[in-house]
Amino acid sequence: MYIRPFDPWKSRLCTCPFKYTLNVYTGCDHACVYCYITSYIPKAFHVRTKEGLLPVLERELRRLDKRYIVALSYSSDPYPRIERELGITRKVLELLKRYNVRCLLLTKSDIFKRDIDLLSGMKCAVGITVTTVNEKKARLLEPNAPPPRKRIRALKKAREAGIPVYARIDPIIPFYTWEDFGATLSALEFVSHITVSTLKLRSDIGKRMEAKFPELMAKLNPLYEKGERVGGYRYLPRELRFQILKEAERRVKNAGITFGSCREGYHSYPSCDGSHLVPP
Ligand code: SF4
Repeated sequence: MYIRPFDPWKSRLCTCPFKYTLNVYTGCDHACVYCYITSYIPKAFHVRTKEGLLPVLERELRRLDKRYIVALSYSSDPYPRIERELGITRKVLELLKRYNVRCLLLTKSDIFKRDIDLLSGMKCAVGITVTTVNEKKARLLEPNAPPPRKRIRALKKAREAGIPVYARIDPIIPFYTWEDFGATLSALEFVSHITVSTLKLRSDIGKRMEAKFPELMAKLNPLYEKGERVGGYRYLPRELRFQILKEAERRVKNAGITFGSCREGYHSYPSCDGSHLVPP
């Protein structure tokens, strides 16, 4: 089965409405240092295609309950670099369109601008993740992903084509991306919804962060040691986390944008994930 109910590790802090998830590819080559998939996908930064994806998908789509959204992709990116040559995500979108499926597309690439013609005729909302608009920091955090300014330009084009658009500012890293939050938000002021999430650590993420950002981790480790543990993840201490979320919410709402938070135990409105933007 390629389309599955979305289940974020049964996190008690997940507030997502019921939806399906579909990963067009296995693995993701953006190789983000904070990536969560490395704990459950072998060779996570190596992108592979899926056997018989399109015919299997077509069979699944015939039976799918079309009331629910299909989200692309939460354990990969629908637009890894190889998508430029292979065009598999485009073919998947054609199928979703043919079966009138509601979908939520999330990417850290700008390749989706190629598919705006298709997306604008679908029941779909498109989102990008931008952790920071600081290009140098983004390159360190997400070495193989296109620069944030390219993602933002592509999303503006989608918006101009009438597609509902949203963004994730995720993860918020204290002393690092949190410092750029204002600039990141102002670059995204044209979107309808923003979801934020603070950095959550597992041991593999911690090791990559230590190797790349020793000074930053010297400041973060004592904080995370005092934080709660939820489903195998270390969180920032609740008080600090909520202080950050409250401030993020205030700034997002001041910009006239609706606010969501992901796996935080903090409120969101009208949805945490932007699913309210997908046309019925
Ligand atoms: S884009 Fe997402 S799935 Fe891909 S490497 Fe980055 S965090 Fe992991």
